[in-house]
Order: sequence, then structure tokens, then C-alpha cells
Amino acid sequence: MYTGGCLCGSVRFEIEGPIRNIVYCHCSQCRKAQGSAFATNGIVRASGFKIISGEDALTGYESTPGQTKFFCKICGSPILSKSESSPEDVRVRLGTIDSDIEERPMAHIFATSKANWEGISGDLPQHEAYEPGRNER
Ligand SMILES: [Zn+2]
Ligand SMILES: [Zn+2]
Repeated sequence: MYTGGCLCGSVRFEIEGPIRNIVYCHCSQCRKAQGSAFATNGIVRASGFKIISGEDALTGYESTPGQTKFFCKICGSPILSKSESSPEDVRVRLGTIDSDIEERPMAHIFATSKANWEGISGDLPQHEAYEPGRNER
């Protein structure tokens, strides 16, 4: 089991089960939502993601119709997103997980949308849109 939370400690969560499809997303929405060059997100089963405290501090913003990003309204930490098209899953922002995780990132996505000041290095595959096999949006 993995545990994590937001910067101020109000929101705490637990994750059961594997984290799938960990990707670095360089799209313009993720860059804004994280305030950084990319977001590092992974998919977990909604049934395995539990908010254990601070649910009332979590608020959402529907950044794309049907897709809502949830963040702590006190400290602003981005925690997860949910998509109406895949209600059985949630997408967790990996930087909020406190545990060492076993899984590793598999790809860079929306690599051609990256900020012009960012250089992507390493051997992971770079995709123009989502990683193959994901049917989101
Ligand atoms: Zn917080
Ligand atoms: Zn993105």
C-alpha cells in the first residue's frame, strides 16, 4: 500500500494495488496545473484510492469537459484527476505520494507540446499524444 498527501498535510490518501501507465505529460494543461515543465501521473483503480483525511479540503476544477482535476484548496497541491470516460480509474499526481513506489515511468506523452525551454532526456519513448493503449478523451 502507498500513502501520500498534499503539501499542508490536510489531504491524506492511501492507494491499494498497482500504479499503471506512469507517464510524464508535457501538455500545456499539465504544465499550467503543476506550474512546471510536466506532470508525472499514474493510473490506479478508483476502488483502491481512498482519501483518509481532509476530503473537505479537496476541491475540483473541470479543466476539460468530463475531466476534473482535484487539488487541496489550502495549499494548492494537485492530487488527482478523474475522467467521466473511465470512472473506474483515477489519475494520481505521483509527486504527492510519500512511499517509495515500485513502478517506473513508461513514457513521455504530448512530448511535442513541451515548453520551448525544456529538454527531454533519457531513453523512454516519446509520444506525440497519449501512450499507446490509452483511450482517454
Ligand atoms: Zn494541502
Ligand atoms: Zn497533460
